Amino acid sequence: MPENPIRDSSGLLKQQLESLLRRPFASLPSRIVMSVMLASLLTSLVVTWVSSRSIGSFLRSEIDHKFPAVLLETSDRLERWYAQREAELAIFGRSRVVQENFALLAAVKKGTEADQVRDEAGTYLHYVLERFPQFEALFVLDSDGSSRFWVGRERELPAAMRNQLAAVSRIEVTHVWRIGDQRIQVVSWPIDAAGAGLSLHAIVHLEAVAMLLANDGLGDSGAIFVADSTGKVLLGTPGAPLHAQHERPLPEAHSASEVAKYTHRSGRLVVGSSRSFDRFGWTLVVEESYEEAFAPVVSVIRELLSINLGVVALFSLVAFWIARSTVRPIIALSDAALRIATGDTGVVIPGGRRKDEIGMLTNAFNEMTTRLARNQEELEEKRVEIEDANHRLIAQNQELQRVNEVFEQLSITDDLTKLHNNRFFQDHLPREMIRAQRTNEPLSLILIDIDDFKHLNDRYGHSVGDAVLRRVSDVMSREVREMDLLARYGGEEFALLASQTTLEGAVALAEKLRIAISEARFSLVALDGPTEIQVTVSSGVAAYRGDEKAFFNEADRALYRAKEAGKDCVCVCDEREPSSRTSEA
Ligand code: GH3
Ligand code: MG
Ligand code: MG
Repeated sequence: MPENPIRDSSGLLKQQLESLLRRPFASLPSRIVMSVMLASLLTSLVVTWVSSRSIGSFLRSEIDHKFPAVLLETSDRLERWYAQREAELAIFGRSRVVQENFALLAAVKKGTEADQVRDEAGTYLHYVLERFPQFEALFVLDSDGSSRFWVGRERELPAAMRNQLAAVSRIEVTHVWRIGDQRIQVVSWPIDAAGAGLSLHAIVHLEAVAMLLANDGLGDSGAIFVADSTGKVLLGTPGAPLHAQHERPLPEAHSASEVAKYTHRSGRLVVGSSRSFDRFGWTLVVEESYEEAFAPVVSVIRELLSINLGVVALFSLVAFWIARSTVRPIIALSDAALRIATGDTGVVIPGGRRKDEIGMLTNAFNEMTTRLARNQEELEEKRVEIEDANHRLIAQNQELQRVNEVFEQLSITDDLTKLHNNRFFQDHLPREMIRAQRTNEPLSLILIDIDDFKHLNDRYGHSVGDAVLRRVSDVMSREVREMDLLARYGGEEFALLASQTTLEGAVALAEKLRIAISEARFSLVALDGPTEIQVTVSSGVAAYRGDEKAFFNEADRALYRAKEAGKDCVCVCDEREPSSRTSEA
């Protein structure tokens, strides 16, 4: 029984995970998992990309709308604010109190009346300053620029500025003056009181102007600032890093009120827009950190990515579980197939209760192994049967061969004498002649015939005759060589084919046989009791000279001659005398 190759599930899981990490596309589960992972990852990346793009363009269009709107609103607010200040100063300057008192003041320059007028005007200016907190100081200049009144925060104004202010001809707001590290903006009104040449001026609170720039619609990093015609920042929203008092590049597209993305000198990437504020030749700028403006995109990307990665992980796990539950039975099937290949047909795979294709495959496999096992048993039975039959056939075949050999032997053997029969002799003779011719070796034939055998038969009976035939055969068999062929040629006639034997040798051999037979005494039981029988033979000898017919005929004629010569002798074909004779009888 081979070792069970169906691995345990935890080992299989570990193995699958390892192979997944080592060669991500090598096995079926890893291919499924990697495909699902790549597909879901790709989908999630596309979704994230599309979402971030659409959110980005949405934010962009929002900023495109928001920044110009903020600038317009700020510009309007500033315009209204300055118009309000102008109106306030004009109303105040045209007021009866100011007109009368300043007319008086112009006329009466010294004395108690002048002091009284100055006090009244001073009190009034104090009162006005209190009512208009947007002004930090009120002052009156002579036509030569010298200061006649000053109420509020004291400032040192250079003469040139004072002269310029004194020359005011209508209500107006000046640009922002830079005096040392101070910035001063003034609203001026020519007091037309009795042509005294006085003018009324109010220094505005630039902090109040800066507060006007604040806008709730901007983010924390958003800033609005005002730059003068040279690009220097005059005012800005508080708290924003952009509010620092230094030169900064203005957005290139400020004239078109378009939103642009650009890098600050500090290296920060910002989005911004600008708009000109014509009253003072200013430029209003709104800026927001690019990072913060598009922060929702980043957070959406981050959120989408984390959700999508979670989905990818979930899908991959599900795919891994499906692949594993699909592949495990396949591995079990292949292991079982291997076991079957090594001859173990008793394999049963668990999992046949599954209702899916794997279950069907498992059932079919188990059915196949069951049938295989049954077929193998039947085959084994048949094999044993065939083996038995084969054994029987082999035995029968051997028997048949043996019988055939016997038959073969019988067919070439003379029943009575056990010498070769005439048929064998006739078969053998041509071959011997061919061989003799080929080897050029001598070959001789001796025909031997028992003398007066009919008489012996008649006298002692046929069975005694048979016995004599056997005895004579035995005698001859003993006398001939192994290589000689001795056969019973006919009734009481024998033929001896002596190979490698010349005519003389054959005559000598025939003579030897003749003597041996004539000297033999056969003790036999005849019809009238036991008796001793003696026989003689006559022989004809011939040598082979290349002619088959002549060969036999010569031997036959020689035998005939031996009989003619009185029997018990050996003759050759020529007219020579018989070689010898044992008796005359
Ligand atoms: P010859 O000396 O001239 O050869 O005279 P023969 O009597 O031997 O010859 P013949 O041809 O006249 O007679 C042969 C006899 O041999 C006749 C036959 O009965 C006998 N004979 C032939 N075959 C057998 C045999 O198998 N057994 C017995 N017992 N006798 C046989
Ligand atoms: Mg005869
Ligand atoms: Mg005879």
